[in-house]
Amino acid sequence: MMYHEEFESLPRPALEGLQLKRLQATVARVYANVPFYRRSLDSAGLRPDDIRSLDDLQRIPFTTKQDMRDSYPYNLFAAPMEDIVRIHASSGTTGKPTVVGYTRKDIDTWAELMARTFVTAGVHKGDIIHNAYGYGLFTGGLGAHYGAERLGASVIPMSGGNTKRQIMIMQDFGSTVLTCTPSYSLFMAEEATLEGVDFRGLKLRVGIFGAEPWSEAMRAEIEGKLNLTALDIYGLSEIMGPGVAQECIEAKSGLHIWEDHFLPEIIDPETGAVLPEGTKGELVITTITKEGIPLLRYRTRDITSLTREPCRCGRTHARIARMSGRSDDMLIIRGVNVFPSQIESILVQIEGVEPHYILIVDRKENLDTLEVQVEVDERLFSDEIKHLQALAHRIEKEIKDVTGVTCKAKLVEPKSIQRSEGKAKRVIDNRKL
Ligand SMILES: [Zn+2]
Repeated sequence: MMYHEEFESLPRPALEGLQLKRLQATVARVYANVPFYRRSLDSAGLRPDDIRSLDDLQRIPFTTKQDMRDSYPYNLFAAPMEDIVRIHASSGTTGKPTVVGYTRKDIDTWAELMARTFVTAGVHKGDIIHNAYGYGLFTGGLGAHYGAERLGASVIPMSGGNTKRQIMIMQDFGSTVLTCTPSYSLFMAEEATLEGVDFRGLKLRVGIFGAEPWSEAMRAEIEGKLNLTALDIYGLSEIMGPGVAQECIEAKSGLHIWEDHFLPEIIDPETGAVLPEGTKGELVITTITKEGIPLLRYRTRDITSLTREPCRCGRTHARIARMSGRSDDMLIIRGVNVFPSQIESILVQIEGVEPHYILIVDRKENLDTLEVQVEVDERLFSDEIKHLQALAHRIEKEIKDVTGVTCKAKLVEPKSIQRSEGKAKRVIDNRKL
């Protein structure tokens, strides 16, 4: 089943013709409306008229998260503020988030693409969608919500947290589809067991899991414990939010990236060179229908590969492989993006704390945990225990306020964290996917 059959099964030559037309319109739009892109295209010696084939995409400079940060909050918008009807944000590498804006048409496109994404996962009108992605500045909750309504399914806007209540609602409301991070789904299954609820007895049929990397082994575990078909979804707020790519239920083999709206490329993260199909590298995406904040060659930092091999579902859109990591140091903790530099910028502002720290990430009972070990100065370390406890609580609170992630702060003796020559090791990730 396809939601936009005409577009999803468009023969490649026709799809590429459409992509070129939309790319040309996008380049013209940002050249005219976004000073950053005018400078960037000028510096590459490009005018909008120079984009004559899809190969010309490679001549366009990249856009990075740093560029978005430098344009905080609205300088990359290509539409006047009075046409922006929604604003979302995701965490940046320091305290300031990355901001995106949507016009009415962008919100409409997003709902359509998210509806398409649901249908690709085998979801239809009549399904009861339990949406446990977070609602708020994060795009997950509202993105899935609008798509579910567009499809005509019944959506339960649960958001994250309060697991016991989630389980009760799923059981009583007869939810047939679950959307959340893969690790949260396993955590819920375990909580259910403790509550004496057999997850396998629920009506859940399909789970759409994303916002963090996972593996085939984890898929098998989820499908076994939740008695549903577990499928991978991909999206990021900079590009749109959830619904950029989705695994089809027919093949369960790679995620179709919606190529009538997004142009994917895989590059070598070191050299920036475009890599051949099937080679692992960093995913770069150009948006070709957005009005609010179109992005040219945005470096997602996600590591994957791309194939245009035909898929048995009949869709002609390229497939990206499961995300296998990041080309930067971003951590995904319970679905939330966290950069070590964000935590560092909090620590350096707290008196008595040394700029030596290490983040220890683990997964206990399927829930990610973060411990922040940080050195305190000599004087403080010999201080009363209650002062140290107050300091640890302050660190935990400030990290929670800025990143949204709950952590445990552990104060350690001066000079006890191993020093390294060259790039300091800031993260120990003990999670096994
Ligand atoms: Zn397919």
